[in-house]
Amino acid sequence: MNLVKLSCLHHVEMPILGLGTFKLKGKDLMYKTLETALAAGYRSIDTAAVYRNESDIGDCLKELLPKFNLERKDIFITSKLGPKDQGKGKCKEACLRSIENLQTGYLDLYLIHWPGTQGKKPEDQSNIQQRQESWNDLEDLHKEGKLRAIGVSNYEQRHLEELLSTCSIPPAVLQIEFHPHLVQSSLVSFCKQHNIHFQAYSSLGTTSDDNKLLTDLTVADIAARYDKNPAQILLRWAIQQDIGVIPKSTNPTHIKENIDIFSFSLAESDMCKLSNLDSQHHYCWNPASVT
Ligand code: NDP
Repeated sequence: MNLVKLSCLHHVEMPILGLGTFKLKGKDLMYKTLETALAAGYRSIDTAAVYRNESDIGDCLKELLPKFNLERKDIFITSKLGPKDQGKGKCKEACLRSIENLQTGYLDLYLIHWPGTQGKKPEDQSNIQQRQESWNDLEDLHKEGKLRAIGVSNYEQRHLEELLSTCSIPPAVLQIEFHPHLVQSSLVSFCKQHNIHFQAYSSLGTTSDDNKLLTDLTVADIAARYDKNPAQILLRWAIQQDIGVIPKSTNPTHIKENIDIFSFSLAESDMCKLSNLDSQHHYCWNPASVT
């Protein structure tokens, strides 16, 4: 598995591919999914307080790690601060609660999930102070070693600029929606320039009955030429740009397919064809309105 070295106080390497767990609920399904993923070679799991599955993940890992001869340090776990818990003290409490739920002693990466605070209007100026206070809490927990790396999610460039100008420890990761229908090239360049690892979410177009990305004709045409499926093409397109991916699946065949993206590469012309599909379309949240 390719590893990405994160810019932070500790020595931290994150697998470029992890398993997404949004909407993955129920201990039996979680157990089967994590069992298949660990057997297939996944070593990174993405969750969040708002997914309400941290305890299930914690319980399942406790049983599964010994089964695979793995230790805590062999697994990379990301969680995120729920938007209702922004602010001084609240953020720290929420983070420690996530660690307790996951039963892992520490987290490898913890992200501020959203630049706003739940219940506040997106244009409310106090969102700014609240997220800065949350970041200060994360810096303290990072120094203590409870969070090996810290970062943000759904921050646009202006949110990142504000954070970079006020923080004492810069964010190691930006996790944001990114796929050929939402390419975000200037944000990718900004992150490269500031040593912030860019991690894509919803690389496959989210969980939807009307998925417009997996059925895109250009993606399907490229997939047929490489004898791969559309999901593999979408994931390969991202990692070939050093962008992390966290595809979500509960289907054992898909879980295995999604990690089988390291043994082929896309020609530059096909990379461009995919990038040219950009329609600035968000299939998930759009943080544009958050002050
Ligand atoms: P994805 O873009 O990963 O798409 C998941 C969907 O694709 C599911 O319906 C899944 O179905 C299907 N799928 C997966 N693999 C294949 C395959 N090989 N062939 C065909 N279909 C496939 O969705 P998410 O929006 O969940 O994004 C991934 C992860 O990113 C989340 O789970 C979460 O961890 C994170 N995320 C973070 C956000 C944030 O605000 N920070 C927001 C949204 C997501 P099936 O299960 O049947 O395989």
